Amino acid sequence: MTTVTTLGFPRIGARRELKFALESYWRGDTTADALRDTARELRRRHWRLQRDAGADAVPCNDFSLYDHVLDTAFLFDAIPDAYRALADADPLAGYFALARGVQKDGADLRALEMTKWFDTNYHYLVPELHGGQSFRLRGDKPVAEYLEAIADGHVARPVLLGPVSFLLLSKTVDGSDRLALLDRLLPVYAELLSRLKQAGAEWVQIDEPCLVLDLDDDDRAAFLKAYGALAEADRPNLLLATYFGKLGDNLPLAAALPVDGLHLDLVRGLDQLDEVLKVLPKGRVLSAGLVDGRNIWRANLDNALILAKYALGHVGEERLWLAPSCSLLHVPVDATGEKNLSGDLRSWLAFARQKIEELRVLSDALASPRAAEAALADARDRIESRRRSDKVHRAAIASRLAALDGAAAHRASPYPQRRQKQAAALRLPAFPTTTIGSFPQTQAVREARAHHKAGKWSDADYDRFLAEETERCVRFQEEIGLDVLVHGEFERNDMVEYFGEQLDGFAFTRNGWVQSYGSRCVKPPVIYGDVQRPVPMTVRWSQYAQSLTDRPMKGMLTGPVTVLQWSFVRDDQPRAQTCRQIALALRDEVLDLEAAGIGVIQIDEPALREGLPLRRADWQAYLDWAVECFRITASGVADETQVHTHMCYSEFNDIMEAVAAMDADVISIETSRSRMELLEAFAEFRYPNEIGPGVYDIHSPRVPDREEMLALLRKAREVIAPEQLWVNPDCGLKTRAWPETRAALEALVAAARQIRSEVVAVA
Ligand code: GLN
Ligand code: ZN
Repeated sequence: MTTVTTLGFPRIGARRELKFALESYWRGDTTADALRDTARELRRRHWRLQRDAGADAVPCNDFSLYDHVLDTAFLFDAIPDAYRALADADPLAGYFALARGVQKDGADLRALEMTKWFDTNYHYLVPELHGGQSFRLRGDKPVAEYLEAIADGHVARPVLLGPVSFLLLSKTVDGSDRLALLDRLLPVYAELLSRLKQAGAEWVQIDEPCLVLDLDDDDRAAFLKAYGALAEADRPNLLLATYFGKLGDNLPLAAALPVDGLHLDLVRGLDQLDEVLKVLPKGRVLSAGLVDGRNIWRANLDNALILAKYALGHVGEERLWLAPSCSLLHVPVDATGEKNLSGDLRSWLAFARQKIEELRVLSDALASPRAAEAALADARDRIESRRRSDKVHRAAIASRLAALDGAAAHRASPYPQRRQKQAAALRLPAFPTTTIGSFPQTQAVREARAHHKAGKWSDADYDRFLAEETERCVRFQEEIGLDVLVHGEFERNDMVEYFGEQLDGFAFTRNGWVQSYGSRCVKPPVIYGDVQRPVPMTVRWSQYAQSLTDRPMKGMLTGPVTVLQWSFVRDDQPRAQTCRQIALALRDEVLDLEAAGIGVIQIDEPALREGLPLRRADWQAYLDWAVECFRITASGVADETQVHTHMCYSEFNDIMEAVAAMDADVISIETSRSRMELLEAFAEFRYPNEIGPGVYDIHSPRVPDREEMLALLRKAREVIAPEQLWVNPDCGLKTRAWPETRAALEALVAAARQIRSEVVAVA
């Protein structure tokens, strides 16, 4: 029989049990023992769930209280000295200090830096290493969780992050070579493997997702050295797990590593199966990642079965494992509870549990085609109903897209002409001031939304509340003296959800939670069908806000790439196609805003960069369609209408050309933390349009004063022409409180006034 297994399971719990247990512990409401009990209970429940859904073997040590990369660093004692005393005295407190920072009893430790786990929306903590780093085992988490799993009667396989990926995902604080630490790290891995063997583990899964990235010679040499060394260890069998892409040019390397099994992502790397089977040494286990661990759709089991049979023919049933493409960490737990979705949509969904059931059907079908016939037919029906559904496919949208010509992605005139017309229409001072959109989402705002959602407040009650908040926000901005105002976004829960709820083709789950980092979860919208905008989405509040003031009111939209990037996207057409549909829907909104008298419109694209494919060679194709989609959204307006965009990250160097190709009249970016260094990229590129480098770091409650922001503006003026510069915060103010917002914005306006006078004096 083939073996059904998974590479990892969501940890947070179907009802976010771990989140609540963590937060309660952090608040001091519950004890460490209570947190450990919840964690143990979740592991037990998840192993049983996997077994009941049809898994023959389950992963262990895939559980984490916060993050598995942090677990790895902690396990190998790769923790900065400042945290060591705390970690020795109280390991749990030390662990959470690394994850979240502490400011207590004289201790002031910041959290480790957090960054995206490959191209997912999961964030890991970046281990901080240094040239003199030593490693040792701290605690025995992998062994303990293995023993827990077997005590509960499972065939369990400990999961470890592999040594090379661990180092490549870390950073050194002294700029020394991370991979130089490999020699010191390998003996500790070997010791851990031997302990796992003594504990009885037959297999260990060793994750090396970096094998799907562009690697250089040093990286390759590190892989050869690492696995050469681990082969010598007294150890269980090793399953080398790769995922999130195909091996591509790293295939010969992966095949050459002396391990006992290889996991392949056959969802993203479907076309590599044949090649892999050719080079996979005899006797290796092949773990075939046949169902999508990154998305929530039911698999086409007929197609998967063809692949599985093909692989079976080569490796034999003893050596074929069937698995999701990657860890199931990136999908919610169980779709059966989604009772508020329409029946057909629900029948198309596969969360973690359903994915294991699918693999079970495949395994059964390989063993006995007759026995699995009914299940395969059922899967086929679901795929067919989705393929035929008129909720998914709307002819009008397809023909509208097909009719779209190249002109739709171009403004009427080039930027220099638009600039003149906009200057005449808007009559703004030099160094115009504005904000990024949202103003503080206070307790009162969140409560009002909750009351409305729960039916305690009527639409009229809620509208009255929003109108008051919006008016107060407009008056506030006038009083502070900002030049381009915003309405404040009080009506918005989340920048994607707010739009998704009003667009056709989107659905919202009840419990479709996915871990973003630590205890933070997101519930991504599900884009299941062709997208269109039945009625205007934002015009009413923007128009109302504009009616309150003579100053320009900026309309505020989330861009098509960001909406796509932060949703579960349909898998029955290319992402680019779905993105174009969203772009067209948003274009309608842009035009309606313009027609309603809104002369400045901001289209936020904070997620543009994170959509970059893992391999450089694939970047351009992505950037081409991503930029085109932004331009489709933005380009319908007259020259006089000023289009802004906003991106809140600080790495632009390698995508500068694409950012310029978006051709927004004004772009606001995050720069205050990097002290304007990032502006160099714009300066070097000779970025032609206007630019608002953030001068107020809204991620911190700290209030910068006038001098601090002025210093940043002076730095900006050194590299960017004064007539190109805007003055604004780094990002939206929704997480801030009113008093600090007022103080910071007063200082911001004062800094802008000062720099204006300096520039006039020079001229
Ligand atoms: N307009 C949004 C806001 O101000 C932008 C948020 C973001 O960039 N993430 O909240
Ligand atoms: Zn932002």
